[in-house]
Amino acid sequence: MIERVSSSPVRDLLALIDRPEVISFAGGLPAPELFDLDGLRAAFHQALCEPVGRRNLQYAPTEGNPELRALVAARMTGRGLPTTAADLLITTGSQQALTLVVTALLGPGAVVAVEEPTYLAALQCFRMAGARVVPVAGDEHGMIPEALEEVVRTERPTLLYLVPTFANPTGRTLPAERRAAIAALATAHDLWVVEDDPYGELRYRGSPIPALAIGAPDHVIHLGSFSKIGAPGLRLGWLRAPAALLRTLVIVKQAADLHTSTIDQAAAAIYLAATDLDAHVESLRTAYRARRDAMIAALPSTTPPGATWTDPDGGMFVWVTLPGGVDTAVLLSDALAHDVAYVPGAAFHATTPDHATLRLSFTTNTPEVITTGLARLAPVLRG
Ligand code: PMP
Repeated sequence: MIERVSSSPVRDLLALIDRPEVISFAGGLPAPELFDLDGLRAAFHQALCEPVGRRNLQYAPTEGNPELRALVAARMTGRGLPTTAADLLITTGSQQALTLVVTALLGPGAVVAVEEPTYLAALQCFRMAGARVVPVAGDEHGMIPEALEEVVRTERPTLLYLVPTFANPTGRTLPAERRAAIAALATAHDLWVVEDDPYGELRYRGSPIPALAIGAPDHVIHLGSFSKIGAPGLRLGWLRAPAALLRTLVIVKQAADLHTSTIDQAAAAIYLAATDLDAHVESLRTAYRARRDAMIAALPSTTPPGATWTDPDGGMFVWVTLPGGVDTAVLLSDALAHDVAYVPGAAFHATTPDHATLRLSFTTNTPEVITTGLARLAPVLRG
C-alpha cells in the first residue's frame, strides 16, 4: 500500500496558497458565506436537547438515521429518481461511499473504466485498491458510448466510474441519449456503474437530465452528497444501490466506521425537515451563476489565442486547455508569484496527462474578485 500512496509537487505548491493575498481558483470548495449557519445552528441545538439529545449521542445502526434516509429518499424521488429509505445507506461524505464500493467490488488487478480527465480522489481510491484504471474516450459532451463498448470488450472492467452531471474537473454534462446507451451497455455486459452526483442540484441553465440509474437500476450505484448543497464539514453523503449490493456495502461500512456521526445525521434530518432546501439551493444557484458568468466573460482576455474552455451548465468548474506545448504545472509557480492559483490538469488524467490543461473553480470568489484574479492570471497564461 505505502508505495501506492504518494504526495505530488503540485500538492506541495498548492499548500503555499494559504496567503490571504492569493486569489485562489484551486480549491473545489463551496462558498462558506453561503452556508446556512443559522439554520444548521438551530438544528444542532435541537438535536442536542432533551430527550432526543441522549439518543443522538449514542451508537446507531450502520444504515443511517431513519428520518434522514426518508428525507433524502423523498428529495431524490422529487428530483426524478424514485427512491425509498430502504434503498439508501448514509455515508461519511460521498468520498466514503466510493471507498466502500471499491472495497466491496474490486479485488487487486480489477479494471475500472473512467472518463479522462476525472475526479482525482476517485483515481486515488481505485489505485490504492490495486485496481487498473482504463480511460474511455470522450468529447465535449463526455464519455462516448461506442468507446466504452470497445473498452468493455477488450478490457472487461468490473466498474465504470462517472460524474455525468457538471463533472469534476471539466464541468461537462453527459446528454440523455448517452446516459441511456451507457445504461444499456451496463445491463448487457453486467458492468457496475458508479454515478457520482455531488453537483447535480447546482444547475444554472437548462433542464435536469434523468439520472443514469433510471436506465440500469440493477447496475448503478448512485452517490449523493450534502457537501455542495449544505456544507462539506458535515461529511454527510449517501449511496443508492440495488438491494443485494446494499447489504454487502452495509457490512463493509460497519467494518470501516460502524456508522456516520449520529449527531450530524440527526441535525441534518432536523434541518432538512425544517428548512426550505429548495429555496436555499436556489440562492446558491443565483450566486454561483453570476460567478460562472464572470469567469466565462473574463476568459477571452485571460488566455492566449487558441485556448479553449468549457462553459458549464452547472457545478463548480471550468476546464481550460491552452495551445502549444505549455505545462500548467510549471506556470503555477509564476501564477503564485502573481498571487493567483489554479489546479494544473495533468493529475486528473488516469493514464495520459494533458499538461496544457488547468481547472478553475468559480464558487468561492465574488464576480469582482474573479475578474481581478483572472486579470492577474492573464500575463502568466498569455506569456
Ligand atoms: N465526488 C466528486 C466528483 C467530488 O468532486 C467530490 C468532492 N469534491 C466528492 C465526490 C466528495 O464529496 P464529499 O464531500 O461528499 O465526500
